[in-house]
Amino acid sequence: MEKRKDENLDLLSRCSSCNSRLGNDAVSLISKEKTKTVFHTFCHKCQSNTLIIISGGARGLMAIGMATDLNKDEAREKIRGKTISADEVIAAYEMINEKQEDLKSKNL
Ligand SMILES: [Zn+2]
Repeated sequence: MEKRKDENLDLLSRCSSCNSRLGNDAVSLISKEKTKTVFHTFCHKCQSNTLIIISGGARGLMAIGMATDLNKDEAREKIRGKTISADEVIAAYEMINEKQEDLKSKNL
């Protein structure tokens, strides 16, 4: 199977834990701002909740998936009440990036 270039959007179509396909009813929009959109996904198969933050900025589109205990209603409440700052998004993104760099250097 050919690997798609735009892997980021797989976060919205597949469960990040068990990789099974997410149906349309499994994905909910939590909040939408100018440069940042937050989705919640619930996997019916492994019962895991994931928050997906898609952020557009100078470095292009980036998508981050974070496992959470919150269901979509709780997530909506939390995220709308207390906006995740851009700094937190960037910190999470850089952490993931470092991990990937780590993996890459180990594979070489
Ligand atoms: Zn799953």
